[in-house]
Amino acid sequence: MTTIQYPESADLRSLLRFAPEDGHIWLSEHRMLLLHVGAMSELRKELIGSVGQQQARRILTRMGFASGMRDAELARKTRQARDPADAFVVRPQLHMLEGCARVEPVRLEFDMQGNTFYAEFLWHDAWEAEAHAQAFGEVDQPVCWMMIGYASGYTSAFMGRFILFKETQCAATGCENCRIVGKPAEEWPDADELRPYFEADSIVGRLLELREEIEAMRHTIACPRKTPDLIGSSSSFLHAYDLISRAASTSVSVLLLGETGVGKERFARTLHEMSARKDAPFVAVNCAALPDELIESELFGVERGAFTGAHASRAGKFERAHGGTLFLDEVGELPLPAQAKLLRVLQEGEIERLGDERTRKINVRLVAATNVDLQKAVSAGTFRRDLYYRLNVYPVTIPPLRERPGDIPALVDALVRRFETLHGKRIAGISDKAMHALKLHSWPGNVRELENVLERGAILAPQNGLIEIEHLFIGALPDDSQEHALSARGELEAAHRPPQDLVAAVLASGVSLEAFEQNLLNRAVDQANGNLAAAARLLGMTRPQLNYRIKKQAG
Ligand SMILES: [Zn+2]
Repeated sequence: MTTIQYPESADLRSLLRFAPEDGHIWLSEHRMLLLHVGAMSELRKELIGSVGQQQARRILTRMGFASGMRDAELARKTRQARDPADAFVVRPQLHMLEGCARVEPVRLEFDMQGNTFYAEFLWHDAWEAEAHAQAFGEVDQPVCWMMIGYASGYTSAFMGRFILFKETQCAATGCENCRIVGKPAEEWPDADELRPYFEADSIVGRLLELREEIEAMRHTIACPRKTPDLIGSSSSFLHAYDLISRAASTSVSVLLLGETGVGKERFARTLHEMSARKDAPFVAVNCAALPDELIESELFGVERGAFTGAHASRAGKFERAHGGTLFLDEVGELPLPAQAKLLRVLQEGEIERLGDERTRKINVRLVAATNVDLQKAVSAGTFRRDLYYRLNVYPVTIPPLRERPGDIPALVDALVRRFETLHGKRIAGISDKAMHALKLHSWPGNVRELENVLERGAILAPQNGLIEIEHLFIGALPDDSQEHALSARGELEAAHRPPQDLVAAVLASGVSLEAFEQNLLNRAVDQANGNLAAAARLLGMTRPQLNYRIKKQAG
């Protein structure tokens, strides 16, 4: 029998952070919960009572499996460079840290190529056996379903193949402890009986996955210019959506207002797609991107010989959008002469190409957009008042992303799927902590900024892995100074870490710890203008602690 010793678990403990001020507990990037075993016992009872023992076992096994798979990533992250056995025992060590049982290794044999695997552990005081016994008394079958799911999920993710754990004895049946054995699924004679509880690799799941992939591909390949769906369910967003869908059946000119990046062009396209004009062209022009001297010929067209360089007649955007929709983005940037012409086109419903004598009837719905305050531009004399009134008949304000944080999860979901297809990559999703950070961010660049951030995340995330916070916000991680870590004695302590380059600089300077401390104390007292209580706060200590240190320095 091999003796297996667990490595020191400080690395795993440091992943566990308590942020009581925010109401969060984090295990690395995963949000965790402290639950009452008694409540889990109740849930079990209800589940078994309502869906039956088989279904309840299946649900709990899969729940454990999902949590095991999440923890397997932590092994990769924390002990990647070490001995494979050290990395593997992250599982029993985490299982202990998470309060599931005391896990005693009995035998562990495997190779990283995944050719062989055998593991045997004892669980002392397994919470699940205890919870089951609380509800049902002693039973005759093993019941640690969730924990078995966890061990199997973790190990399968770790080994890259389906490893199935089974309880060969369980404390709930009156044994002293639970004994679990893990082997590749196909090595179990009763694998077919056990597999349905996991369904990790079920045909149905695979088919659904494939169908989703095909749908996504079909969507991007078959109709690359089809309107991307507008996503959101917040009331401000739905209000804007409702306004444009009501405008769709009319030919009214629409003015889209909102900050940069909120998706004005997307709204304009959606309006076009919902209207009777949907089979005619949608033409988009960014007024700010065109030089002043070209803007009129671009919009209204030009006749040959109208000016030097006009070698051929050319239709403008208005003519190209005939029957359809013309989207004028950043309309506030139009120079005054072009504004005068635009107003005339809107009033007469006809255009005149540059250098042309005749007029042409056009039938175009105009959708204009701006992120500047047009009313201010009118007062400043840079925008025509009459054109402003003409455009402002049907204004629609698109809310900035920070005013609808509840829409972020749905947007993230859709964007991650889009980037999966675009970059030919499978992504498991986004970590809880990364999602939390996305919701806290103020998004000055709105949905466009979210797209950029997620695209980078999708590229940096590992294949089949989660997008984590470090993949999203490079070099600008949100401050985690409010978090607390678990000490070796099991007590919470502030998890404030000085920046690594500061530590390196202190070490490189050769200054003694004592001298450094003295400097630090003096600086804090100076900065607090001699107020010791304030200085103590700056240093993250109490006033008596600071007094003690100052006295020690003086003595
Ligand atoms: Zn058990």
